Amino acid sequence: MDFSSKILENAVNEVSRLPGIGKRTALRLVLHLLKQPKENTAYLSEALLHLRNDVKNCQKCFNISDTDICDICNNVKRNPEIVCVVEDIRDVMAIESTSQFNGLYHVLGGKISPIEGIGPQNLQIDSLIKKIANNEIKELIFALSSTMEGDTTNFYIFKQIEKYNITTSTIARGIAVGDELEYADEVTLGRSIVNRIPFEQSISR
Ligand SMILES: [Zn+2]
Repeated sequence: MDFSSKILENAVNEVSRLPGIGKRTALRLVLHLLKQPKENTAYLSEALLHLRNDVKNCQKCFNISDTDICDICNNVKRNPEIVCVVEDIRDVMAIESTSQFNGLYHVLGGKISPIEGIGPQNLQIDSLIKKIANNEIKELIFALSSTMEGDTTNFYIFKQIEKYNITTSTIARGIAVGDELEYADEVTLGRSIVNRIPFEQSISR
C-alpha cells in the first residue's frame, strides 16, 4: 500500500496488528476514525490504555477483574467447594449466562499446547493443585473445550489430583467435540453443566 501520509500509514500498521484485521480493514477503520469527532478517538485510546494498565486478575480464580478478588469469588451465595476449570474469561461469561452454575471458577489462562510452546508451568495449574491440597475444593468440573489441547490439559490435571479425595466431573458433551464453549448456546451449555458426568467415564471411551 502506498500512503500519502506517514502518520496515516503508522496508524494503519498498528491497527492491522490486531488478530483478524488485514491492512485493508485497518485502513477502513482508521479512515472511519478520521471522519468521527476527535473525542471518539480520545475515548477509544483512553479505554485501551485503561484496560492495559488497570485490569487485574482475581487472586483467587485468575479471571479478569477490576478488583483483587472478583465479584464471583466475593459472592457469599456461591458454593466455593464446587470449582469449574475453564480456559479463559470467555468461558466464564458463557457459563454465567446459563445461570445454571453456582460454584466458583478456576481460570487456567489457556490450554497445554506443545506446538505453541504452552506447558503446564505457563498456566494456573499449580495454583489449582494448591487449592485442592488445601482441601478447599470438593468437586472439580472440567469445562475445557474438547479439542486435543483441552483433553490433554484435563488429563494432565486429572493425573495430578488423582491422589486427593475429590469428585471430578466433566460437562456432558451435548457440546460437539471440538466446539468452543463460547459458541455453545445457553440452553445446551446449561444442560451440559447440570448433567455433568464423572471424569473417569469421559476418558474410558
Ligand atoms: Zn475470582
